[in-house]
Formats: sequence, structure tokens, C-alpha cells
Amino acid sequence: MEKKVQAGTNAVWAGEKEYLVHGATQVPVVLSVAYNYDDMDEWYDVAIGKKKGHIYGRNTNPTVQSFEDKVKILEGAEAATSFSTGMAAISNTLATFLLPGDRIVSIKDTYGGTNKIFTEFLPRQQIDVVLCETGDHEQIEKELLNGCKILYLETPTNPTVKITDIKRMAKAGKAAGALVIVDNTFGTPINQNPLALGVDLVIHSATKFLGGHADALGGVVCGAEELVEKIYHYREINGATMDPMAAYLTLRGMKTLHLRVREQSHNAMELAKYLQTKDLVEDVYYPGLPTHPNHDIAKEQMKGFGGMLSFSVKGGVDTVRELLPKLKYAHRAANLGAVETTVGPARTTSHVECTPEERAAVGIPEGLIRVSCGIEAIEDIIEDFSLAFKHVEAGLQV
Ligand SMILES: *Cc1c(COP(=O)(O)O)cnc(C)c1O
Repeated sequence: MEKKVQAGTNAVWAGEKEYLVHGATQVPVVLSVAYNYDDMDEWYDVAIGKKKGHIYGRNTNPTVQSFEDKVKILEGAEAATSFSTGMAAISNTLATFLLPGDRIVSIKDTYGGTNKIFTEFLPRQQIDVVLCETGDHEQIEKELLNGCKILYLETPTNPTVKITDIKRMAKAGKAAGALVIVDNTFGTPINQNPLALGVDLVIHSATKFLGGHADALGGVVCGAEELVEKIYHYREINGATMDPMAAYLTLRGMKTLHLRVREQSHNAMELAKYLQTKDLVEDVYYPGLPTHPNHDIAKEQMKGFGGMLSFSVKGGVDTVRELLPKLKYAHRAANLGAVETTVGPARTTSHVECTPEERAAVGIPEGLIRVSCGIEAIEDIIEDFSLAFKHVEAGLQV
């Protein structure tokens, strides 16, 4: 058996060796759509899956496979398959397993796009969707007893970073005969490995922390070979394939995943503590703070608390409007997980589809700001926030 190495070593080395050619030290970007075979029998064997190889780019591609292998090893999975976006990974995975009449149990705080699948698209295919209060483990356990094909979770959630106990939910889900899926985009394979906690499938939007540079879209799902094989088959026919260039950029980004995530987690902790000291700030949401309602669970199942946090300000939208444009070192953008700090109001980013009443119902105040911490020196980020707060406070005095 191969000796288990640290995640940082795998981030750099894993999944690449068998794809290197001509003595190159880096995985090539193979843009070719099709592959030539001089031997008709060999072509046939590859086509029917008897022999390893590539036939057509919608099915497989060496650069894309290298990316899948790296994620697979980092998540400790048997297999992984990739997608054009994170949403494609989620929708294709659900479509692979759900049939009319099935029941899916999830939480109210999933990513906005995922929530739309649950509320807009699945019900019209006669799939029964039950969305529980995020973090209400008893409610989820109760719903599982009424039958469940898929238990779908996300932790930490967007944007209020709520935490669900993965081990407990995986156990309850399995006992109910459900397939347990976790969106680990916010967790990252560096801070959290849901497969090791008993879940069946882990999904990532590779667009975020995996790629880390906000320049490539992608998604990936990993787990047992038998499950991933089915998802791969759905995807190869339905066509939401990852682009080789995006796979290369993500693969390249992932070589520094452990360094970035460590720094982002550190910066988020420091920024969260700083924000707690500000009069203008109502609440700070970060799983690393002892004041977080599920800090203990986060401590148990995460190696670091991640780069995402949010906070609400007094004065609501008006304060947000004044504060955010004053920041020098933050993109005011919808993306997250990149090396640069990004900020945005929940009402414009994660929950733009909701009405103010719907946002209030899921505990999102209109003055909530989501922060994705980058890898900048935290002193400069805090100084930047400090100047922006001073500006708003001065405005309030006149
Ligand atoms: C962004 C995101 C997605 C969707 O990923 P895309 O690559 O944008 O399609 C899914 N889940 C979470 C938690 C996300 O942050």
C-alpha cells in the first residue's frame, strides 16, 4: 500500500505523473477533440471501455482526468468526475439518481443555484423536496424517517456560514437508506473531508477555492467508483464536460491550495475578531468564533474554519452602500475563494433571487455583507476596513 502523505504534498504532486509527456514536468493542455487509432481492434477495445484510452473530448480528456485525479486523492475518494461548472456537477449528480416520485431532504441555506433546483426544477419533475432549517439536526433526522432517496447538505453555508454535523447526518442518512451528498465548496479538501465522515458523494464548485484565481469555471464530484461511474455516464451523454483549458488552470491553481486555504482561514479569523470590535457591526458570522452557535461541531469536523465570513451592519443597505465602495483591496464581486478578497451584500450575491421577506425568513438581514478573504497581508485588509468604517462613521455624524 502506498504511504499516505500530507494534503500539501498531494496538492503539489498528486494525479499528475501519468499524464506527463516528452519529459515535461507539467501536465499538457490537450485540446484535441478526438484521438487517432491505427489499430481498429484497439480502437474498438477503448471505445467499449475494455482498454484505457481516449476517444472523444465530451467523454474524457487527459488534462481533465489529471485534474479529477488530484481532487480524488485530496478527498480520499475512489473516483472523481468533473463538469463545466459547479452547478453542472450538482444538477447532473441529482439527475443521475432522482426519479419522479422520489423524495430529497436538504436544508434551507444551500447555495442560491442549488436552492433554485430544489424549489423550481425538481418539483416539476414530481420530486418531493423537503428543506429543513439549517443546523436543525433533529428536524432532518425526523424527515429522514419519512423516506428519502437523497440527503443533500452543504456546510459551511453561504453566506451566514452555518454548520451541520456531517458525521451525525451521514449516519442518519445511511440508516434511512439515503444517498448522502455534501457540497464541500466552502470546506475545501484541505479543511474538511466529508467522505471520511461517512458521506457518499462530495461535490465542489472548482471555480472557487480549488482553482483559486477566479479565472476558470469548473465542478467536480467524487466518491465510490460505482456511484461516480453512473454520474460520469450521465454527464458524458448530457454533455456538461469540463474544458481542458479550465482543467489546466484549476490543476495549476490547486498546487497552492493548501497554502491559500491556510492563509485565507487565518485572515478570516483575524478579520472576524476585528469586526467584532466595531460599533457599526451588529453581528459577525464565522465558525471559528466561539460565539458561533455550532463552533464545537466545526472544531470537530474541520481542520481550519475557512476563508468565508459575513457580518451585518447597523443602518442596513444604506451603510452597505457607503462602506463597500471605500474598500481599496476588495473586489465588489459575486465570486469567492480567490486569492483576492471579495465582498458583496447577500442581497446582490448569494440571495439575489429572494425578496427581502424571504431573506429575512432565512435569517439574512439586508445589511449583511459576505467576505471571501484573500491571501493579502491581513494588516492591510484590516487597515482598509478601518478606513472605510471611519468614512461611514464621519458621514453619520453630519
Ligand atoms: C459557487 C457555488 C456553487 C456553484 O458553482 P459554479 O461553478 O458557479 O456553477 C455551488 N455551491 C457553492 C457552495 C458555491 O459557492
